Amino acid sequence: MRRLPIFLLLDVSESMLGDGLHQLEKGVSDIVATLRRDPHALETVFLSVIVFAGRARTLVPLTELAAFYPPTLPLGGGTALGSALFYLMDEIDRQVITASTRESKGDWRPIVFLLTDGYPTDDPGPALDRWNRFYRRRVNLVAVSVGGRADHSALRQLTEKVIVFDDTAPDAFARVVDWISLSILNQSRRVGGDRRGDVSLAKGDPGVIMPLDLAAPMLRTGNLDEQYAVFVARCALLRQPYVVKFKRLQTPSTRDSAIAQSPIFQYYRLETAVQVEESYFELSDDTKIGRSVNSGELLGQPYCPYCISPYGMAVCTCGGIHCVERDGEQTCPWCGSRGIYQAPGADGCDIGRERG
Ligand SMILES: [Zn+2]
Ligand SMILES: [Zn+2]
Repeated sequence: MRRLPIFLLLDVSESMLGDGLHQLEKGVSDIVATLRRDPHALETVFLSVIVFAGRARTLVPLTELAAFYPPTLPLGGGTALGSALFYLMDEIDRQVITASTRESKGDWRPIVFLLTDGYPTDDPGPALDRWNRFYRRRVNLVAVSVGGRADHSALRQLTEKVIVFDDTAPDAFARVVDWISLSILNQSRRVGGDRRGDVSLAKGDPGVIMPLDLAAPMLRTGNLDEQYAVFVARCALLRQPYVVKFKRLQTPSTRDSAIAQSPIFQYYRLETAVQVEESYFELSDDTKIGRSVNSGELLGQPYCPYCISPYGMAVCTCGGIHCVERDGEQTCPWCGSRGIYQAPGADGCDIGRERG
């Protein structure tokens, strides 16, 4: 039996933090559950899960559905689309069987579902170039822009199949998962007949899942990168890392950049603070974004998600963010130096910001 290789290339950068990551995780296991019910898919589909943030990593190599165990998705900093694509192409070279031999037939044309919701933090140019020269004709790639927040011009250079998915619609994630499952099912039934193996996507729910050209009214303007401010911190007590996510107070719905940049739009409200694994650092790139957010622009102080100290955003002179239980002397879990901490004055203080 020839294999139909499916790669899920998932953006697990900080903008996915919270609900997004859980829904994505559930999505992967729902896709597998749906495909397993189909005898045809069960025989042909092999599934791989690759995640990327600042770096990429394979969580599950191409695996037959019967043996597939849905992974826990980690979180990382950055959205290095270029290095994710390089990683994907190397994985395709390593895992996909191209030529048929006397003993075994080569794989069907692989399908990649790329889900991303941010702008690349690296230059995807060289990867796009390699993709278009060596992979585009023999690999189907479907790019899904979650919430319309991805870099559509980069995605367009990758594939004609750029899909926008409105993640604010009710049950949006469940619907996109159904759509991906159906598209894979379609393809697993078609592979015998269609020589070209061009993927035929299932029909998406109108208004929720749509081709980029039809999605224009849904796309917001303004600098979408700046919808979130995300910080990585460590618990001063347990030294474990956590991530604090703030959301911009209002997303300007105006094309007038002067209005969009007015001070009213510069505030960020605390959304969540969650524990992350040390793998967060393995998936993150080392570079930090060149600007910082003034703590005066941040509304709300998170509890430390480990020790429940009430000040989760204390900043050491080394730039490290950590929790503090009360004003006074405290050891920084990043650099080990002791310092006196007090609530920021009216001016606030600058806090190094991670990229989303
Ligand atoms: Zn703590
Ligand atoms: Zn420090």
